[in-house]
Amino acid sequence: MNKITLGLTLGLTLACLTLSGCSAPDNGEDSAEGNVDLIVYGDTVVTMDSAMNIFENGAVAIDEGVILAVGSAADIDAAYRANDTLSGDGRVVMPGLVNGHSHAAMTLLRGVADDLALMTWLQNYIFPAEVRFVDPEFVRIGTELACWEMIRGGTTTFVDMYYYPDTIAEVVESCGMRAMISATVIGQRSPDAEGADDSLIKGSGFIERWKDRHPRIRPIFGPHANYTLDAEQLRATRDTALALGVPISIHLSESPFELQYSKDNYGKTSIEMLDELGFFDVPVIAAHVVWPTETEIPILAERKVGVIHNPTSNMKIASGISPVTAMLDAGVRMGLGTDGAASNNDLDMWEEMRLAAFLQKVDRMDPEVLPATTVLRMATSGGAEAIGLGDITGSLEPGKRADLIQVLFEDVHHVPTYDVVSHLVYVSDEQDVDAVIVDGQILMRDQTLLTIDTERVRSEANALARSIGIELEERNR
Ligand SMILES: [Zn+2]
Repeated sequence: MNKITLGLTLGLTLACLTLSGCSAPDNGEDSAEGNVDLIVYGDTVVTMDSAMNIFENGAVAIDEGVILAVGSAADIDAAYRANDTLSGDGRVVMPGLVNGHSHAAMTLLRGVADDLALMTWLQNYIFPAEVRFVDPEFVRIGTELACWEMIRGGTTTFVDMYYYPDTIAEVVESCGMRAMISATVIGQRSPDAEGADDSLIKGSGFIERWKDRHPRIRPIFGPHANYTLDAEQLRATRDTALALGVPISIHLSESPFELQYSKDNYGKTSIEMLDELGFFDVPVIAAHVVWPTETEIPILAERKVGVIHNPTSNMKIASGISPVTAMLDAGVRMGLGTDGAASNNDLDMWEEMRLAAFLQKVDRMDPEVLPATTVLRMATSGGAEAIGLGDITGSLEPGKRADLIQVLFEDVHHVPTYDVVSHLVYVSDEQDVDAVIVDGQILMRDQTLLTIDTERVRSEANALARSIGIELEERNR
């Protein structure tokens, strides 16, 4: 389909959402008009658009990676013929999940050190293990393992922060996911840099190499936190991000330690400190935000900071309970994330949804807060907005990139189904995801991964983990 007919079709199908029924496009140009790459059917199609449109016996028409139309299967069938189709029997179609904060390659450190406080865990276990073991090969295998797990669980977009970002980008390019990849900036020796200045220089190189290289990949900066970088280094990172025109992701207001560190060193809490630095002049994706003060929450809303809630990691490391409801009420853009597999210990966004809801309810002692629809929005359209990709992904709407999943509703835990959205948040899990499409490409079909050689990744990951385990054991002896 050429650009002109695509535009005409888009105009027609936008109307399809509001008028009853679509008819086949007829612009007299092309007898093959109406052919599209793919139609994805669903017993129910949950669009997550602003009106929360839901279609029973629905379908999504996709061509050249773009959603052309969403509507009833009858209307879509009348308007389009597809080269390929995914059956909707027993399946719900919805946007792919957006994991707003991860350290993908840390899948290889899954379970290496559990049941520890954040700073003990970081300084005594994770940072030393990373300096010793993390190299491009570790990052390649760990990121492939993570992408396998994320695709398997219905995640289509993720925001990553780790070392050797070129390697992460190469894996993302080949496995077909969409990602924002942060070059980590940290004020200490790390696997890929000698310190803050070196990591900033290397990060800039990565961003220049990848800035306009691939439409699914956005390179960004990832200054680690305000307790691993000083004010000058944070300002330098902001300046470089501004100059290169890219966003930043950072850990922010995560733990009582950070709160105290910030007060001791800067006389103010983290968010106020960064705001005074002018840090939020750049689009910022802030992970965790467990301890914002009452005066800091309006700053997050005004400066359009995208806040990523990581309930599992916050619970496991006992960082605290983020005031998600208060931030949403204040108009803060909020998404969900898993954090790395070393503090979770999986990359299951369904679990994040469920725990986000339950944690707010018990914290506020109010079962009405953070209802299912709000949580599902945080994992899809809201999360996409929080990371600055709301115009291209996160909901099923004509013109957006085709990032969507099919969820099987045939297992016993879905029986009976009164309310699909309720089940998606409170029942479904990653084993229910049946098909995953990113940018119009099918990455998983009938629960089979198509872009990752899973057996190769399994054996490479196990072999690498064996050598790490042997060395850790010897060291601890
Ligand atoms: Zn993190």
